Amino acid sequence: MSNHSPALKDKLLFPFVAPPNGGKGTQTQILSERYHLPTFDMGSTFRAILKEGKDPELKAELESYMNNGKLVPINTVVKVFQKGFEALAENHPEAKGFILDGFPRNNEQADALLTLCQTWGATLSKAIYLNVSLDVVRTRATGRRFCSENARHVYNVNDERLAPKRQKLNESGQPVTDAQGRILWLCDIDQAELIIRADDEPQTVDKRLLEYEKETNPLIALLKEKALLAEINGEQAPEKVTQAIEQLIQPLLGLTAASQGN
Ligand SMILES: [Zn+2]
Repeated sequence: MSNHSPALKDKLLFPFVAPPNGGKGTQTQILSERYHLPTFDMGSTFRAILKEGKDPELKAELESYMNNGKLVPINTVVKVFQKGFEALAENHPEAKGFILDGFPRNNEQADALLTLCQTWGATLSKAIYLNVSLDVVRTRATGRRFCSENARHVYNVNDERLAPKRQKLNESGQPVTDAQGRILWLCDIDQAELIIRADDEPQTVDKRLLEYEKETNPLIALLKEKALLAEINGEQAPEKVTQAIEQLIQPLLGLTAASQGN
C-alpha cells in the first residue's frame, strides 16, 4: 500500500446497501445534502472512466476485460474505487464523512475496503442496509412509467401516490393496451404517452434481482458477522427510512437529535 491518502484520515465512511429500486438514491441524496456528506457513486465512476477517457490507462485496463466478456478482476475494481474515492475526498476537505454507493458490492470488495480504511486512518460505519423485499422492489420497478416527452415526469402505476390519472383511449373511448395487455397511460402534465423503459420490463428486472441476491446475500452475512451491518426497514415511508438512518448516523457525526435543525 503505497498510496496513503491524507484526505481520508479520521473521515467517516457510510456504505449503503440496498436492492435495485430499494430507495438508496433517494436516501443518499437527502442525507448527503443534510449532513454535507459527499456521495461516492461507483456506477457513475465506472461510466465516467469508460466514456470521458480522463484516465486512458484505467480505461484500457477495464476494456481489456469487458470487451472480452470477462469479469473485471477485484484488483482493478479496487483501483477504480480507490482512485475515484481519494479524488472525491481531496476535493472535499471540509466533509466529516462520505457516503459510499455501489461499493462494496461483494465480500472481496468489503475486505478490500476494510484494508483501505486502515491504510487511510478512516472509520468505517456500519453499512446501512435498506431491507426491502424483492417482491416490493419488483412491483416498484415494473410499475414505473416515464413520460415520452419529458423523462423527468415519472409515474408509478403500482403506487397510488405516484399513479398517472389518465388512460390512453382509442376512438371509441376504450382504454388502449400494449402487446402484453398492459394499460397505456398519459402524462398528467403534458398528456404525452407514458412509456416503460427496457430496464423496467419484468424479465429484465427479475434478472437484475437474481444477480443482486446472488452477490449481496453473502455480503450481508459477512457484514452481519463482523457487526458492520445496520438493517433499516426500507419498506416504510421514505421519511421514516430517513429518520431511521439519521438516528444511526447523527451520534457518529457528533450530533444529537436535539441539535439537528430540520
Ligand atoms: Zn410529461
